[in-house]
Formats: sequence, C-alpha cells, structure tokens
Amino acid sequence: MGRRKKIVQECERLMDEPENIRNIAIAAHVDHGKTTLTDNLLAGAGMISDETAGEQLAMDTEEDEQERGITIDAANVSMTHEYEDTNHLINLIDTPGHVDFGGDVTRAMRAVDGALVVVDAVEGAMPQTETVLRQALREGVKPALFINKVDRLISELEEGPKEMQERLTAVIRDVNDLIRGMTEEMDDIDDWTVSVEDGTVGFGSALYKWGVSMPSMQRTGMDFGDIIDLEQADKRQELHERTPLADVVLDMVCEHFPNPIDAQPMRIPRVWRGDDESELAETMRLVDEDGEVVLMVTDIGVDPHAGEIAAGRVFSGTLEKGQELYVSGTAGTNRIQSVGIYMGGEREEVEEVPAGNIAAVTGLKDAIAGSTVSSVEMTPFESIEHISEPVITKS
Ligand code: GDP
Repeated sequence: MGRRKKIVQECERLMDEPENIRNIAIAAHVDHGKTTLTDNLLAGAGMISDETAGEQLAMDTEEDEQERGITIDAANVSMTHEYEDTNHLINLIDTPGHVDFGGDVTRAMRAVDGALVVVDAVEGAMPQTETVLRQALREGVKPALFINKVDRLISELEEGPKEMQERLTAVIRDVNDLIRGMTEEMDDIDDWTVSVEDGTVGFGSALYKWGVSMPSMQRTGMDFGDIIDLEQADKRQELHERTPLADVVLDMVCEHFPNPIDAQPMRIPRVWRGDDESELAETMRLVDEDGEVVLMVTDIGVDPHAGEIAAGRVFSGTLEKGQELYVSGTAGTNRIQSVGIYMGGEREEVEEVPAGNIAAVTGLKDAIAGSTVSSVEMTPFESIEHISEPVITKS
C-alpha cells in the first residue's frame, strides 16, 4: 500500500476518536511565513517530500495565488502526528494573510479550535497579527504563538543571545498585550496569554526547517546557545535534523489546543445564536456523531472533475453520501454526492465524516462560504462580519 493511502486510512480511523483530533488554523500577517511553515508541517507528517517543502507551496492551490505570491483562498489539509505514543489527526485550515480577505479569516476561524499565530521575529506584531488574534478570540479559538525567521536575527542582524532574548521577549509581550486587551471582557475565557514556560510559544525558522520550544529543549537538549552556534556555522541541515520544526509545532498543537469535545461546549454558545436549551444545541456541545447533521461551510473550492466542493466543520451528526440536507437561506434541500477530507491540495473520498472533523463535500449546489447545512431546519450560525483593520502602535 502506498504511503498516501496509508495516511488516508489512518485519518479515517482517527476521525472517530474526537479526543485525538485537533482542528487548527495558522494565521499571520502577510509574508511572516505561514505558507512556508505549513509546507514544513505537511512534510513532517509525510504529506510532501522534505526536500520540496518551502518550494512547493502546497497550500497555494490556485494558480493566481502562486502568481501573486499570496494566499487568497483558504485551503484545507488533514495530517496525522504521533504525540506521547498516541496518533493524532490534525485538520488544518489555511487562512488568507492579506488584509483584504478578513471575512475569509473569520470563516476559517469558526471551523477550528486553535490558532497558531505566526509572527516574524524581525517585524514583530503587525496590524494583521492583531486582526487575526481578534478574529480567533471572538470565535473562542485558543491562540499559540510561533515566532518565525529567527535565523535572520542570527545571520543577518548578528544579534547575540542577550539581544535576541530581548527582542523575542518584546514580541511575546506585544502579543500578550493584544490578547489581554481582547479577552478582558470575555467571561468564558480565563487566561489565554501565551508563554515560553507553558510551551505555548515556539521559535524557529520555517525556511531552514528548525524550531524550538521549552518542551523541545527539554527533550532534545538543544538550547539557544547551540542554535546560534549551528546557525552561525551554516549547519542548518544539522539544526533541522536535531530539532525539526514540524515535530516542535505539531507537539505544541497536540498538547495545547483543545480537542472538539473540550472546545465545542464552550464554543457553541459563543458562535451559535440558536436555542441553548434545544436538543440540537446539546448534540453540538457533545460533538454527538449520532445527532442531527450540522455542517458549517467555510470555503467553496472548484475541482475540475467533481465541480464545486464545500469544505467545513461538522459540529454534530455524521456526513454521508446520499443525505438530503437543508442549506441556510435557501428553499429545499441538496443531496450529498460524496464526502471526503483534504490531503494537501487534493480531496480523498471517505465513507463518512463524523462530528468534530473538517469535511469536503460535493453535491451542495446551493451552499456558499458561510452556509449552515443541516439535516433539520435550524437557526444558522450568525452572519459573518468583516472586521476592519485597527491600527496598533509598536512599542
Ligand atoms: P506568508 O505570506 O505568511 O504565507 O509567507 P511565506 O511563507 O510565503 O513567506 C514569505 C517570505 O519569507 C518568503 O520569501 C519565504 O521564503 C520567507 N521566509 C519564510 N519563513 C522564513 C524564515 O524562517 N526565515 C527566513 N529568512 N525567511 C523566511
């Protein structure tokens, strides 16, 4: 059996174990390295070859994105990762980094429970960093921070350990000031600030494929001194092999982001304005795969063979071929023609997709990005607003 087929089979098995699922987004200001990081994760999970990660830009599936060099359409991908002897299914939704696509970012955030915010170590938090954090926190999505392009501090700016530490501390402080400012009024969110000590901050270089976090340093014995030495000596391949970025980031994802069972009870009241006391609310909070089907569509893609594909989060029930489902805002029902998951830019058909997962569905001809698709008529997820860009002052 081919490697890819094995991965698909493993994903199918893990789809039924919601406690081992993580639905995540990677979000960043444009050019801070989201695409390069994503490629690393795909390579780390065996989805694309290690050599091509960083060049392939697997998430930029649309031709015009590659031409323009920015990601404009949220693509989705599932991968597996072993953490503490247990295999996890990581469903990753790509978010557009460009300021014009704020609505798409909000939609992507609704489908996930954790957001890895990537910040360029040289530039620090930028306006779009603030916007994506605000969108995540409003949707009840837990943040973690990855400070990227640390290689540039060493090789280009020639910073020593002290300067580097000061700079990285300042980035973390700025991000936490933003998080604190946004969550202070929210009574269902305790403390979602990030810290090196609790492992919610990672550092590294998506370009050269190495990364570190407090837990990884404890595991590998590699500290910042070793990293500076190897980076200065141009031994980046060794750095990658000794402390691979994908392992550091995917461990962080499994450890710190909530699974759907922990996330949905808190998120459903926040993102859905229907009757809290209803059975439907209860099945969504419980991630009940035997409940009514509820799918929130985050993105519509076009496949040259299969036509329009709706991707989104299954909050309750189990999606299967042949189901007749209501599409919010339209009359009548649409029939599901196939269900699948994304692997890189490609869709793989599977038998069924249960609650807690990200699904790719054909046959929903009336659905648009933002539609609620369900087996009973229901209050749709609230209408999706665009958030304008606030200006932040850098300290
Ligand atoms: P995105 O817009 O956030 O998706 O950013 P990209 O992943 O496309 O990266 C933007 C640019 O930064 C590209 O030229 C990358 O090669 C470069 N880049 C990404 N990560 C790193 C890194 O860790 N170090 C350095 N030096 N450059 C990087």
